[in-house]
Amino acid sequence: MKVLVTAGPTREHLDDVRFISNPSTGKMGYAVAAAAAEAGHHVVLVSGPVDLAPPPGVRLIRVVSAVEMRDAVASAFADCDCLVMTAAVSDYRPATRLAGKLKKTSETLDLKLVRNPDILAEFGAKKGRRRIVGFALEAEDGERNAVAKLRAKHMDWVVLNSPTAFGAERADVTILARNGERTVLEGTSKLDIARKIMDILSSKKR
Ligand code: C5P
Repeated sequence: MKVLVTAGPTREHLDDVRFISNPSTGKMGYAVAAAAAEAGHHVVLVSGPVDLAPPPGVRLIRVVSAVEMRDAVASAFADCDCLVMTAAVSDYRPATRLAGKLKKTSETLDLKLVRNPDILAEFGAKKGRRRIVGFALEAEDGERNAVAKLRAKHMDWVVLNSPTAFGAERADVTILARNGERTVLEGTSKLDIARKIMDILSSKKR
């Protein structure tokens, strides 16, 4: 299969040296790319800024912002069989990006934010025969929110995890399928979670 994976955070710059982001380290997405390559698939990895080396045999496209990530996904989507969207995409970006460095002049500063594209929702809506896996990081009422996202964004599987997964080596996750199947993995390494995701993706059921 041709597997398109997104990983890491996005950075939304307000000037040339400052940005809004989140603590995603990219470990989960790089593990998915490694597991997919290990299983013999062609892999394109679209990655936000992280400190990780790309797994061998994977085509890496580096991006910074959500808009760049959307355009990179757009360039590879037509040719993929599966999209695994692990990236922690920033939901908003500053309405304007100033050139250089914003000066400190006033006591308060209002920052206007605008919505970023929802990459998964956009490409989920035109998935055709492609298989789509999304992630849902939920602080509470996890399964209900995750299933709502699965339906809204046309995913076939959603991997539910909690904010403690940020940067961790191991995580507790529940993989929920569109057909109602549940797979619970507890204290599992991200590589083993990734291998399980690839097993499920390669199976016929969804
Ligand atoms: O942020 P949310 O919980 O809705 O994220 C669920 C899924 O949607 C994740 O797989 C994430 O990568 C994806 N997403 C996206 N574009 C956004 C926000 C989230 O593709 N702007």
